[in-house]
Amino acid sequence: MNISVLGIVGGGQLASLLTEAAKKLKIKTIILSDDIDAPAKNFAEKFIYGKYDDESIVNEFINSVDLVTYEFENIPNSILNKIEYEKVILPKPKINKLVRNRLTEKDFLNKNNIRTTNYASVNNFEDVKLNQKLLPGLLKTCTLGYDGKGQFIINKLEDLNDDFDFTKKYILEKKINLKQEISVVITRYGHQKYEIYEPIENVHEDQILKYSKIPANISDKIMNKSKEWAMIIAEELDYIGTLCVEYFIDKNENIYANEIAPRVHNSGHLTINTHNISQFENHIRAICGLKQINIKKIYNAKMINLLGDEILPYREKYLKENEFFFDYLKKDIKPKRKMGHLTIIEK
Ligand code: ADP
Ligand code: MG
Repeated sequence: MNISVLGIVGGGQLASLLTEAAKKLKIKTIILSDDIDAPAKNFAEKFIYGKYDDESIVNEFINSVDLVTYEFENIPNSILNKIEYEKVILPKPKINKLVRNRLTEKDFLNKNNIRTTNYASVNNFEDVKLNQKLLPGLLKTCTLGYDGKGQFIINKLEDLNDDFDFTKKYILEKKINLKQEISVVITRYGHQKYEIYEPIENVHEDQILKYSKIPANISDKIMNKSKEWAMIIAEELDYIGTLCVEYFIDKNENIYANEIAPRVHNSGHLTINTHNISQFENHIRAICGLKQINIKKIYNAKMINLLGDEILPYREKYLKENEFFFDYLKKDIKPKRKMGHLTIIEK
């Protein structure tokens, strides 16, 4: 099928950067977002604003596009299913459903012999007490968390107040003695057909990604394992498009898969400047059935997320030849909000 109009559900920075990549491929994008100020409206050809459960809005969106993708996990599955009923939507909603829940995601990884941190499903104080061997640990909501939101560090049972809100479902994860964090971005085009980027090293501050760089300072063993697992994950999910696997490396050089992002990923932003084909272009090529082009690294680089008012000086700043600044054009600056990023390539 010849795709000339791509629909993207969600209007954040990932949608904006996908839109930029689509332009290069002469594909128009239409954004559907429930945020009237969604930054992607500054980039896409068309912007449809409406609540995701507004049937007439969703129908208008479905009728104006050839194919649909989405930029974040937390879209109600009923909407994705509705879209799938009428148009091709990639990645498939059932994949999103599996990985957007931290419990089913970790069960899937372990079923495929991919190591994760130890974990348990907990729904009340008693459950945590029964799983004390997981402390110190992190209590995370099973769904809807991002950038460390919905996460609580529990060093000992007493850290858990009586009034802790257990109306949501939680996972308790053993805290890993972190040495490093890496991610692997992979685009799957079909059975055993991949483009896989080298592991990216990530530094988080307050559970939010702050820096990413290539090459990652890791052993060959860790590099190979992280790529091998990413390929198994993409193949087992029968995934089409770009996905990212986040990994932890502990002080004993053990590697653990942390999460699967069924989408392009913040750590992969540097691929815009380091590779012939970015993670965004690869995603669009794969979902639209365009030609697979072997990726080639041109530069090493470091990417810095600009959070909150860190963006301000860059809006005025004279950039060096090896610096690439991206402003997501978000309407309001909020503390710790990802406002833009800077990629510095090594020449
Ligand atoms: P999010 O969806 O917010 O990205 P993550 O599970 O990736 O959630 O957690 C965010 C960050 O918090 C991780 O990148 C890591 O730095 C830290 N973290 C999360 N879980 C653990 C853990 N089990 N052990 C140690 N650090 C963790
Ligand atoms: Mg994460």
